[in-house]
Amino acid sequence: HGKRAGGRALRVFAPAMNDAAHFRLQLEQDLRRAVAEGAIDVHYQPRVDSRDGRIVGAEALARWTRPGSGPVPAQEFIALAEDAGLIDELGEQVMRKACRQLAEWAAAGVAIPSVAVNVSSHQLRSWKLAGTLRAAIADAGIAPSQLEIEITESMLVHDREGGESQLQRIGELGVGIAIDDFGTGYSSLSYLVSLPFDTLKIDRAFVLDLGDGATPAAAIVRAVVGLARELGKDVVAEGVEAMEDVRLLAAMGCHTIQGYAFHRPMPADELTAILRQAPRGA
Ligand code: C2E
Ligand code: MG
Ligand code: MG
Ligand code: MG
Repeated sequence: HGKRAGGRALRVFAPAMNDAAHFRLQLEQDLRRAVAEGAIDVHYQPRVDSRDGRIVGAEALARWTRPGSGPVPAQEFIALAEDAGLIDELGEQVMRKACRQLAEWAAAGVAIPSVAVNVSSHQLRSWKLAGTLRAAIADAGIAPSQLEIEITESMLVHDREGGESQLQRIGELGVGIAIDDFGTGYSSLSYLVSLPFDTLKIDRAFVLDLGDGATPAAAIVRAVVGLARELGKDVVAEGVEAMEDVRLLAAMGCHTIQGYAFHRPMPADELTAILRQAPRGA
């Protein structure tokens, strides 16, 4: 109400508003504009089969360059989008861009098996998500199996029922489901029985502590790889930076790697160039 009260009130309140709150408000306004203008970019980080270096998929990661101040870290603006009620629209934008990109790669003859998009808990709680996915897939003219969503375990802790029925519908669409940051969500393993998921993504925290392969983190990774195998699911290790860790993970039976050891997230054009050079998959 500071504004409505006129200039006099502004002079009283503006200096009192602390810098952090002011900065945040500005950031939120800029983000709101970027989302409205469709200015959220998407970068892609390949998932690689470490046995032959083949790209077997990619994760779509939102990018925002704030006018006048440069790139804002994804974690920062995603959290802001969640707080500011912008995440549904931002998420749909990323989803639609990823679907269109899949269609472009197919048209260019460099088809990539699948792209995963991250989904926030608010999106999962909304009844709209499955419909939004279906529309994005249909508008781009891609196969549902080319798209995967990444959800975190912690998202399942709160509204378990709602989340599960939504995931059921998404699974029925033929869209893949990956559990992101697996092992960090403080949830029970029982959801692994009832959820229609396809992929476990081992969190970078475990990869960081692999050591010589005899650490507790390494034991957990071995167990998770075994669990995935027993359940008939795919397993991906993320945040893998060292070739030494790629070798350790391979010895544990984890061959799908996402991390700087192979590729950083990159603009679509860069990935297109890499896909053009890549040997065709069998
Ligand atoms: P995430 O889904 O776990 O994505 C993996 C993050 O790890 C990405 O960070 C990626 O750049 C980073 N990463 C991959 N390989 C390595 C590595 O070898 N070393 C290191 N140090 N980092 C690596 P990014 O792009 O900054 O995204 C951070 C988080 O923001 C994501 O974590 C995800 O939770 C969220 N996010 C990003 N885009 C979206 C989106 O479109 N929607 C939603 N809801 N969340 C998103
Ligand atoms: Mg992810
Ligand atoms: Mg992750
Ligand atoms: Mg993460």
